[in-house]
Amino acid sequence: MPFKDILGHEKELRIISEALRSGRLAHSYLFAGPEGIGKRKTAFELARALNCASASNDACGECTSCLRAASGTHTNIVEVTPTVKDKDELVPDPSGLIRIEQIRDVLSLLRYKAEGGRKAVIVDAAERLMPQAANAFLKTLEEPPAGSVIILVSSRPADLLPTIISRCQRIAFRPLPEDALIGAIVEKTGVSREEAAVAARMTGRSLSLALKYIGEGHGEKGRELIKRLQSTTDVSEALKFAEELSKRDDLLEALEILKGWYRDRAVSAAGAENLLANAAHYGYSGGSFEGRRIASLVEDFFSIEDTRRMIAPPRYANKLLAMEALLLKLVD
Ligand SMILES: [Zn+2]
Repeated sequence: MPFKDILGHEKELRIISEALRSGRLAHSYLFAGPEGIGKRKTAFELARALNCASASNDACGECTSCLRAASGTHTNIVEVTPTVKDKDELVPDPSGLIRIEQIRDVLSLLRYKAEGGRKAVIVDAAERLMPQAANAFLKTLEEPPAGSVIILVSSRPADLLPTIISRCQRIAFRPLPEDALIGAIVEKTGVSREEAAVAARMTGRSLSLALKYIGEGHGEKGRELIKRLQSTTDVSEALKFAEELSKRDDLLEALEILKGWYRDRAVSAAGAENLLANAAHYGYSGGSFEGRRIASLVEDFFSIEDTRRMIAPPRYANKLLAMEALLLKLVD
């Protein structure tokens, strides 16, 4: 899938294409931006473009090199993803961590010269690099072996070590335009535009999360979750709900749904989507009744996000305690 098949991101792709054409590619990149909008895909296409036989500064998608990359067997293209330890094995797991063993493997692979093309290392969910792994990587990020390119991909760049960030050229991926996104969701799932719009909003305009949201019936799950929260009005109910939540396997996802709901409420309290984003521009002082309400909705949104970060790896806070604190705050 060449660059032209990536949804949206015209500006981001222009920067990359221009760097390829002019031979001014940085040796380390950070592709930062919301989850599920095509950052990893773009990194992969850049890696393929560097190795494509067409030498067109894009991936043709058809040559041996492009096909080998697509099947995951290209020796020049290495992808690192978070893992969990299962006995002595490292098993891929999006909620796991990137371990020093994985980075050591990458470093030893980079020592060999590429046979034609260029070596490309893609580190997906780079914010999950364990500190030792990140530190082992610093020197190589600053000065990778000649010709190789390292691309860190992260939807939570604020969680990366500053020493990592400062060694990479950052490309900021923006959320997908609402219209294009809704069109793509409708095309891929066959749901109505209204349903697609809700899924898009609830998942922070992420294509892959929106598809997951629809595919796994989260519309219904989300409605139940929110109904439950709305009917939770006193302390003992809040603690009961907190306990239920803490036992859910999909707790992190449930928190994303709650965040989406609070964001929506804040936006509608502001009267318009752009009004909220541009509150300062409109001279919005927050002194009115509505202002206070928006402020507290936004505060609740960030409380949910803080809690999500606390219980996610690598911090693993106690889920029950974290949920109790959060629910007591939200129900207050
Ligand atoms: Zn090709």
